[in-house]
Amino acid sequence: MSSSTIDYGKTKTFLIDTTKCTGCRGCQVACKQWNQLKGEKTTFFTGEGYQNPPQMSEFTFTRVKFKDYEKHGQNEFAFYKEMCMHCNDPACASVCPVGAFHKTPEGPVIYNAKKCIGCRFCMVACPFGVPKYEWSKAFPLVKKCTGCYSRVKNGLHPACATACPTAITYGSRDEMLKEAEKRMAAKPDRYFKVVYGKEEAGGTSVLYLTQQPLDELGFRPVTKRPLPSYTWQALRFVPGIFLTVGGTLSLVTWFQHRKDRVRREEEERNSRKEGNQ
Ligand code: SF4
Ligand code: SF4
Ligand code: SF4
Repeated sequence: MSSSTIDYGKTKTFLIDTTKCTGCRGCQVACKQWNQLKGEKTTFFTGEGYQNPPQMSEFTFTRVKFKDYEKHGQNEFAFYKEMCMHCNDPACASVCPVGAFHKTPEGPVIYNAKKCIGCRFCMVACPFGVPKYEWSKAFPLVKKCTGCYSRVKNGLHPACATACPTAITYGSRDEMLKEAEKRMAAKPDRYFKVVYGKEEAGGTSVLYLTQQPLDELGFRPVTKRPLPSYTWQALRFVPGIFLTVGGTLSLVTWFQHRKDRVRREEEERNSRKEGNQ
């Protein structure tokens, strides 16, 4: 199914109410457990805040950001969980030359590592800085939050949403938007009057409610137009990225040859091992 035929109102969506987030990082741990991602070396203070690890990575698909601010002369903390936004019309999918990403009708934007050639166009295109490279590997590919697709398509909620005691509600996009509006109307003093993700990048399957203005919390300002409508035009001007159609196809061929060579070498190694047994 192409993303244009998806009924976005029905896609499964996260409503992350940062005013209810306690910063417990249960979501971060549940994500690591479910996806069997290893722990990373952390440092106490990164300069940007108190979050650990300092960035999302190939081993950390979600992390809780800490932001300190002053209110009525008091020091306060705000927390929010950062993850793939599962865009309705994902820029990562639009630039991938081999179709490794796609938006599922259920909501998650998933990634097929078998197709990936490691070109990193998706990393440049994503307006939220989500896909990460496997720097730890000799032949790196890209990793990101899967939206727990294997759970969602079997009727379960994502691991992080299940673990969260307070801040994450999960349901259809229409329901989550209604719920967000209801909360803002019921407690106008508690909420900043914008649902982040409602329109950003053409709309996403992750929505945020906040108390503070989004820029104060460090949310990225993102255009409301779906990004695929001009992703390629924008990428043409990114230095170091070789983006003529001919160049892209040459890269695809080069990477495919490299992949085939690696697979052949692995098969040879395995058959040598079997011969020695
Ligand atoms: S946030 Fe980035 S990686 Fe996630 S779906 Fe959107 S464009 Fe793709
Ligand atoms: S949806 Fe799944 S993969 Fe994504 S952050 Fe939550 S637990 Fe991790
Ligand atoms: S589990 Fe929920 S309350 Fe705890 S840090 Fe994550 S989003 Fe916040």
